Amino acid sequence: MWPCMSRMMLRTSFDTAQWTIRVFPYMDKYPVNEIFYSLQGEGFYTGTPAIFIRFSGCNLTCPFCDTDHAAFRRMTGAEIMDAIAPYPACHVVLTGGEPSLFVDDLLLALLHDAGKYVAIETNGTHPLPHGIDWVTLSPKDHVDAQAHTVLRECDELKVVYCDAATLPSYEHIKAGHRFLQPCDTGDGDAERIVKETIEYCKAHPCWRLSLQTHKLLNIR
Ligand code: SF4
Repeated sequence: MWPCMSRMMLRTSFDTAQWTIRVFPYMDKYPVNEIFYSLQGEGFYTGTPAIFIRFSGCNLTCPFCDTDHAAFRRMTGAEIMDAIAPYPACHVVLTGGEPSLFVDDLLLALLHDAGKYVAIETNGTHPLPHGIDWVTLSPKDHVDAQAHTVLRECDELKVVYCDAATLPSYEHIKAGHRFLQPCDTGDGDAERIVKETIEYCKAHPCWRLSLQTHKLLNIR
């Protein structure tokens, strides 16, 4: 009996170790690209002082993505809390990359226990943990063939406008606010896209224009 139990205990220990190795990297350490303090530049909370926690890593490959996914530091929840402690704002923005791949109940609990209001900017292809205070859904079905948005509800829908021909209505998504944001191509096409976005909003008044004001102001 004892040898049997020993084997069983050994196997259980091994399984636990395997589970720990497989799951712990994301449960315990988060791949943080950067943490910084600025004003929210886009969407409903434009102008609001906010602490940004940007994660590296995404399941999509949008052509205009400006996150360096190879650059990150693995941080524990406690290390993240230490890093944001100097900043007085209660508004925290979880962004990326795709934060829903990494944010879990543990990190949410730490932020809420510290009195933070937690917003997330997500592409909506992955379920979110419960309890997030503000969800900004930025679906990418029209720019990445791999994208399949599973979220059906959000506080604000923020869609990158590239051209009218490829823009879905996203009517099936329930949203408190709907923003269209001109795609920042970084080239001579940008002016055309801004003008088209304005005209599209005027023709479809359920949309409001969102500008990346942090870029206009040359702040983070
Ligand atoms: S969903 Fe966002 S983070 Fe992911 S590739 Fe597209 S722009 Fe980059």
